[in-house]
Amino acid sequence: MRSLRTRVLAVVLAICLSAPGALQARVTPTHGFDLFSAQEEVQAGQQAATQVPKQLPVLPDSDPVARYVQRLGAELAGHAPGEKWPYNFHVVNQKEINAFALPGGPVYVNVGTIQAADNEAELAGVMAHEISHVVQRHGTRAATKQMAAQLPLAILGGIFGRGALSQMAQLGISFGVGSYFLKNSRQAEKEADLLGSNIMYDTGFNPQAMAQFFEKIQQQGGSRAPQFLSDHPDPGNRVEYVMTEVDTLPRKQYRGDSSEFRDIKQRVGGMRPLTAQQIAAQQKSGGFSGAGQAGAPSGSTGQPGSDVAPSANLRALNHSDFQISYPDNWQVFGDQNSAVTIAPQSGISQNAIAYGVMISGYQPEDPNASLDQNTHELINSLRQSNPDLRQIGNDESIRINGVAGRSADLIGVSPVQDRRGSSVRERDWLVTMKRSDGNVIYLIFIAPDPEFGRLRPTFEEMLRSFRLR
Ligand code: ZN
Repeated sequence: MRSLRTRVLAVVLAICLSAPGALQARVTPTHGFDLFSAQEEVQAGQQAATQVPKQLPVLPDSDPVARYVQRLGAELAGHAPGEKWPYNFHVVNQKEINAFALPGGPVYVNVGTIQAADNEAELAGVMAHEISHVVQRHGTRAATKQMAAQLPLAILGGIFGRGALSQMAQLGISFGVGSYFLKNSRQAEKEADLLGSNIMYDTGFNPQAMAQFFEKIQQQGGSRAPQFLSDHPDPGNRVEYVMTEVDTLPRKQYRGDSSEFRDIKQRVGGMRPLTAQQIAAQQKSGGFSGAGQAGAPSGSTGQPGSDVAPSANLRALNHSDFQISYPDNWQVFGDQNSAVTIAPQSGISQNAIAYGVMISGYQPEDPNASLDQNTHELINSLRQSNPDLRQIGNDESIRINGVAGRSADLIGVSPVQDRRGSSVRERDWLVTMKRSDGNVIYLIFIAPDPEFGRLRPTFEEMLRSFRLR
């Protein structure tokens, strides 16, 4: 007993002596029930991140303020425990104090936050706090709770680490700007404060500055930080519990402001960032062009990510019921035995699929009826869950690799919105064919109506490659 204890002590001492100032696991990041694999977590965040520059005035990555925040962020993230997420840091040219983090790494800090920070430690505190939300996966854990409440168990059981993303899309869960899942619980806030204190400490900043900055904006009232306070609700006694945590750490000399911080403070002092009101007005009139994104297309629809443009290289999907080729920069959601969606990552927007193809099966009432009859039955059934859907023109007979099929054009409502915030018309191209067992296999090619023509050659190529098994 005694010898074991001595040995443990010796090991602890050895760690302390051999690695002064190195990261020691003090606050252990919490982990909770999470349906998202690490890869899906990163994808969910990246998907949301493509929307941020359209909704907020994000400074270009090359801006000196952005570059400074990137450097400071990278230094802090270097001391973050747990999974090594692909952190990246951005500055929003907004006056109000706020900061938020998306799952898997993207962190955004408002210019107003830098203007309000009296020293570098206060700014580092906000960023260490955001990094801690990423480390502890607070966003996807909250989304998981919601999904568990909404999904039948059979589906829930099937999506651990695979398909969480598409389920999330189907349930209308997103991590977009202002989304519910970026609002943290008080428990999550306290966890982020405590872990953030450790990251601050390990990077050489006084952790107390973080708690003090939060208390300061709380005292200033909500006028400059209403969004911050709603995203990061005050758990109460921040300074107190952060100080208790700091007391458990060895005393050390904290660093002062860097000359770079002072330069940046001067620079942001001369900036006139947009107010939340101005940003809301811009969002209504079409959003932002997306800072730092070269050659962003302009059009009547929301701007899809660059991955919507299909790659000319095709990849084959071998499903148990069929085979199909698809652009290799698009993704398959589902597996070889389930219904599948093949779509660009950013084509699954808000709560539905905006670009891509869904492939599924349908069991008709009367398997002996003609494919024509089965197809109309299918359209009626699709309309029950999508009342806006209507057929345009007549359906036609086609052949897909020698198999008889029917083709019909439908119009619905796209999840994509135009610059005035109204929904864009969606074009859905339905193709059906019958299997030998009488069941119908169908494909629905989906795109916003104005862009359907551009994607049609890809859709046709995919259909030409389609083979029933
Ligand atoms: Zn927070």
